[in-house]
Amino acid sequence: MAITVFTTPAQVRDFTRGRQRERHTLALVPTMGFLHEGHLSLMRAGRTSCDITAVTIFVNPTQFGPTEDLSRYPRDVRGDLAKCEAAGVGFAYLPEPSSVYPPGYQTYVDVERVSQGLCGGRRPGHFRGVATVVTKFLSLFRPELALFGEKDYQQLMVIKALARDLELDVEVAGLPTVREGDGLAMSSRNSYLSASERAQALSLSRGLFGAQRALTDGLREAAQLVGLVRAELKANDVREDYVELRDAETLEPLTAVAVGQTARLLVAGFVGQTRLIDNIALNG
Ligand code: AMP
Repeated sequence: MAITVFTTPAQVRDFTRGRQRERHTLALVPTMGFLHEGHLSLMRAGRTSCDITAVTIFVNPTQFGPTEDLSRYPRDVRGDLAKCEAAGVGFAYLPEPSSVYPPGYQTYVDVERVSQGLCGGRRPGHFRGVATVVTKFLSLFRPELALFGEKDYQQLMVIKALARDLELDVEVAGLPTVREGDGLAMSSRNSYLSASERAQALSLSRGLFGAQRALTDGLREAAQLVGLVRAELKANDVREDYVELRDAETLEPLTAVAVGQTARLLVAGFVGQTRLIDNIALNG
């Protein structure tokens, strides 16, 4: 079936009313477009769980800082819609910024603790923008299920917190990071990388996997695990933004992975001008 494209909130509201009348369940996959296998894995998971899957494609200006890549963020609307259709997505919402944030707009969602530090510390206002736009999309679509990637782990925790705290009555699911064959986490921003930068970028995932192996060999201290990732970045000329060990649920900083603990090792770094992130589970 051909994909139906909405561009205004009014169209989505009509769709939501009809869908709820028909008692069709909905899975929602919010994205910024330039879709890859990571995004498609979320859509396929939506299809297997719900009657209808919808995607949002919106490069959200409020989650970009003044010096970030908003204006050059990669876009391919036609290609994206073809991929959505092939993945069995029935509906896509592609609003203009002016219909998400019309004149007079003044309401924002601030998720406190899990937004602190990591990307929240390095990108002031980023999660306020993310939380705001996701809250708006969830309240327009009223999905039963909303799907996000563990690739953006702090973002996933922010969205879980807002759905819980605002009682949005939606299941927020986090799916594993989809990687290239050599381990690089798929990202729309990988398209910025030259061939040599692509090779440097591999140090993020290599460092994380190295730390995961080190944990199974008995290395538990944050300083040691973080140090392994740092060494990989340094050896490949990648400028560290952060490398941190955090509790997987609360995102509180950890000094070590205790026995039985679920932890997460998270990294951000600049490969040339391109800022990349990745993370991995460390289960003690
Ligand atoms: P983005 O378009 O980068 O905002 O991402 C949209 C959604 O896709 C978010 O929930 C991301 O976490 C998820 N995503 C991005 N890259 C990956 C990946 N490599 N594997 C799984 N999910 C991903």
